[in-house]
Amino acid sequence: MPVLVMKFGGTSVATLDRIRRAAKRVGVEVAKGYDVIVIVSAMSGETNKLVGYVEETSPLFDAREYDAVVSSGENVTAGLMALTLQEMDVPARSWQGWQVPLETTSAHSSARIVNIPTDNINRKFGEGMRVAVVAGFQGISPEGRITTLGRGGSDTTAVAFAAAFGAERCDIYTDVDGVYTTDPRICDKARKLDKIAFEEMLELASLGAKVLQTRSVELAMRYKVKLRVLSSFEEQSDEAGTLVCDEEEIMELNVVSGVAHSRDEAKMTLISVADRPGIAAAIFSPLSEAGVNVDMIVQNISEDGRTDMTFSCPTNQVARAEQALKAAQDAGSINFHDLVADTDVCKISVVGIGMRSHTGVAAKMFKVLSNEGINIKVITTSEIKISVLVDRKYMELAVQALHTAFELDKAA
Ligand code: ADP
Ligand code: ASP
Ligand code: MG
Repeated sequence: MPVLVMKFGGTSVATLDRIRRAAKRVGVEVAKGYDVIVIVSAMSGETNKLVGYVEETSPLFDAREYDAVVSSGENVTAGLMALTLQEMDVPARSWQGWQVPLETTSAHSSARIVNIPTDNINRKFGEGMRVAVVAGFQGISPEGRITTLGRGGSDTTAVAFAAAFGAERCDIYTDVDGVYTTDPRICDKARKLDKIAFEEMLELASLGAKVLQTRSVELAMRYKVKLRVLSSFEEQSDEAGTLVCDEEEIMELNVVSGVAHSRDEAKMTLISVADRPGIAAAIFSPLSEAGVNVDMIVQNISEDGRTDMTFSCPTNQVARAEQALKAAQDAGSINFHDLVADTDVCKISVVGIGMRSHTGVAAKMFKVLSNEGINIKVITTSEIKISVLVDRKYMELAVQALHTAFELDKAA
């Protein structure tokens, strides 16, 4: 029988009522003749609560125990979903990551999927089971320890299962009815897109649009998984939601398709470091060894052989970055006068495949921000995106102004 993957995010399984509602949607697909793999997240708020417990217990926690704790929210919803389906007379059972087993690397808290053997679940399908409910977000390392795939990782579990089982489609059920031109929670003029190209979705996700985890889009692109984002709260037709697809399937490519924001950014500046060959390596190697994800980098002009070096990284990695740079200073491999962290910034990005063939997008973006009196602190560009770092208090204003200026507002 054809296989369908259906993933339900935290808000879609937040209560027993919602689990019932989700299970009914699964029942509809089973009735159509699909064998269904359901991937569930933890109930909304649950993972944050578990992360909080870990951080309070042990600030410099052992990542293996972090994973043991934070993966547990999904175990609850997987079991409850299987029970709910059984109550509806749909043959179902739950699977935790290790039972599949969903094999991952040992990079705890951000592990990568290595392999998903299909034989266990397929054997059960062969025996008449119609729904395999799998706990999202979790797997097992070569050492036999529980791993997690990074926040939002259930999306990636879903796409990986769709690829492994050759599913006809991977439907991501969430609390919005598709992918929007920007986060509908911060811009009420955001418009739902019927289709979005993989590459654009990849940029939007990695630049902060958390509707899909970046890695899930990468996998969908690589394995040609038909990926759809839709609401678990509305009645659905086959055309509902947003299809993430190849750009060839989209009639008209926009110069700008979306605006993304990321609140979770910090800007760090090393003041007055010696400007000599090898200085960038001396700064960024220890950061990378400490697991700091450096994003934007700017080296200022130098004077008297010294320069300022600025970079951005996630806010929760500032302490680790400071520790690594001070250790390098103590070891004598770098020498700076001061290290300043600005944690009150955010990143705003515009994304669009059409940018490849259009000039002037960056200039227009800068003009729009300047008209709003917003100062730009750092800029980076790539072929299909432009990102800027600005003060966090301007986040909503910047998103809304750019959304309007690039003609993304929905028809009034
Ligand atoms: P789930 O719990 O179902 O995985 P998430 O909270 O992870 O849901 O992702 C859905 C949220 O993503 C939406 O509620 C919305 O606020 C946010 N979001 C950010 N950018 C976008 C976008 N461009 N389109 C749709 N949703 C977006
Ligand atoms: N529950 C996990 C999280 O909140 C995984 C997910 O929902 O995708 O990050
Ligand atoms: Mg999510």
